[in-house]
Amino acid sequence: MTRVVLVGPPGAGKGTQATALSQRLNIPHISTGDLFRTHVGEETPLGREAKRYLDSGELVPDAVTNEMVRERLSEPDAKSGFLLDGFPRNTKQAEVLGDILSENEEALDAVIELKVPEDMLVERLLGRGRDDDTEEVIRRRQQVYRSETAPLLEYYSNVLVTVDGVGDVDEVSSRVLDALGKR
Ligand code: ADP
Repeated sequence: MTRVVLVGPPGAGKGTQATALSQRLNIPHISTGDLFRTHVGEETPLGREAKRYLDSGELVPDAVTNEMVRERLSEPDAKSGFLLDGFPRNTKQAEVLGDILSENEEALDAVIELKVPEDMLVERLLGRGRDDDTEEVIRRRQQVYRSETAPLLEYYSNVLVTVDGVGDVDEVSSRVLDALGKR
């Protein structure tokens, strides 16, 4: 059983690592960014609500996000563990996650921080070329990370493991697996 949260600024490689580790550990990769983008693409009511936040780099309101995550975590595949990527993104969301888990008598095994120098982040994101990867929106997402999300590192200090996110994908994956004691 592995319940893991990946934390790190936009561009740190959370999605890439979560995809690789999801296969390796055979647990679902749950990305709130991907979930939102699917809703936006399918023009669901949630997607219509979320779009302007994604387009500007702001956080989608907690009520919307928390409900979406609660539903996703209630699906059967998440019972065998999960890799959460992009959630929680502030301490309120972290409290809600704690509530959801404790309702099921579950807990997180680890919070992995992927650490990458700031100048490398913007470079990676501009190379990725997603719709919301314009320089202005990237800068805003980095600010939101620093003010809203970075406090989670303190919040989770008792389960936090910091992993160097610089290197090729396999190299970083190995470090994360080491950190999880899965190698
Ligand atoms: P990145 O890690 O590169 O910022 P994501 O795909 O994780 O990209 O997130 C893209 C956008 O989706 C965010 O800028 C935000 O608008 C929205 N989003 C994702 N996760 C959350 C969350 N937990 N709470 C609020 N908004 C979120």
